[in-house]
Amino acid sequence: MSHSEELFERAQRCIPGGVNSPVRAFNGVGGSPVFFKKGKGAYVYDEDGKRYIDYIGSWGPMILGHAHPDVLSALRDKLEDGLSFGAPTEIEIEMAELICSLMPSIDMVRMVNSGTEATMSAIRLARGFTGRDKIIKFEGCYHGHADSLLVKAGSGALTLGVPNSPGVPADVAKHTITLEYNNTEQVIAAMAEYGDDIAAIIVEPIAGNMNFIQPVDGFLQTLREVCTKHGAVLIFDEVMTGFRVAKGGAQAAYGITPDLTALGKVIGGGLPVGAFGGRRDIMSHLAPIGPVYQAGTLSGNPLAMACGLANIRHLTADGFYEKLEQGCQTLMNGFQAAADRYDIDFSTDYRGGMFGFFFNAAKPVTRYSEVVQSDLPRFKKFFHSMLDSGIYLAPSCYEAGFLSSAHSDADIEETIAAAEKAMQSLAG
Ligand code: PMP
Repeated sequence: MSHSEELFERAQRCIPGGVNSPVRAFNGVGGSPVFFKKGKGAYVYDEDGKRYIDYIGSWGPMILGHAHPDVLSALRDKLEDGLSFGAPTEIEIEMAELICSLMPSIDMVRMVNSGTEATMSAIRLARGFTGRDKIIKFEGCYHGHADSLLVKAGSGALTLGVPNSPGVPADVAKHTITLEYNNTEQVIAAMAEYGDDIAAIIVEPIAGNMNFIQPVDGFLQTLREVCTKHGAVLIFDEVMTGFRVAKGGAQAAYGITPDLTALGKVIGGGLPVGAFGGRRDIMSHLAPIGPVYQAGTLSGNPLAMACGLANIRHLTADGFYEKLEQGCQTLMNGFQAAADRYDIDFSTDYRGGMFGFFFNAAKPVTRYSEVVQSDLPRFKKFFHSMLDSGIYLAPSCYEAGFLSSAHSDADIEETIAAAEKAMQSLAG
């Protein structure tokens, strides 16, 4: 039995499922999860001493790779001054000013401790600002685990939402309308019917929680138009895409201006950080200057801010995202060529430092209904073959992949060689 397996047995006795967040448990691929001891650059090392090239990067934050020297030294410098005061500090202003300058749609920003808090608070603010209860979200988009966002579509697309977890009251879920991502006509129809009752439309501008799906032409533009027309708040959930696909996030990449933006992951550089921000008139509804309540004991604490700032400051270097995207392109082209050689239905996509691949005939995959047609048994076999070769991919075919600036050409070549071997075993 490996040390990871021993630890998993031990963990399951005192932690539900042995993990502190479900996808870590390998339920989507089978087998025992790998326990990690350390990370450096593009690599993570497990408890048995095996090295992996890491394409999860803690689900997005580690865009500079693990244990980046500048991030660690910023943390060390701050550590000596104390950990948290629950009172204002200058470094919070530095963070807010940097976010506002890099994302022009954000006039004011409030720091929180996770992506879940960011989206949950943005929804409350949108409801408080508009005086309306209903929201629209899209199937296959994940916005954290707040009640009103853990909702799936009812029997028809335009019916009331139903909870997709026990514990979410039906009375809360009924205010959430769930539509199909990339279905522009459906959005127009839903807004024609419910528009004046809608507080907000929340969307992942690139969907990264049903693998990786970019918006089709006109989709985000339509969201912008219907929100403006009906006085609803357009919320971009850029927890994953913010500072990951482009310097100004997906909103810069596609040229669409949301009213509010939720951030997380990269802006914390690996510490628990989230943020939401946007139009000054909307943000001015937040306590203490407005009536909408939102707070946090550790929000904006100096260590988290120092870590996030050190991370973000690297991302403004010329060509940073172009280089990341080239890496993703080489990686995905390599995977695709290997699949093609063995006649395996396969499709890929990428943007900035984020990529996705599907065992699927659709090219490109644009809808959730297509994602669920992916060949799951093939994905599982591919995943485990890659893991054996020392390549750590997301253990679910519904997750995106993440590249860091620490991944070298040689790392990418090694990964493509492993994919070649894995595809061969799938064909055999
Ligand atoms: N929104 C999106 C788009 C996410 O990908 C996630 C997490 N994967 C969240 C919100 C929730 O963030 P957190 O896990 O930090 O609560």
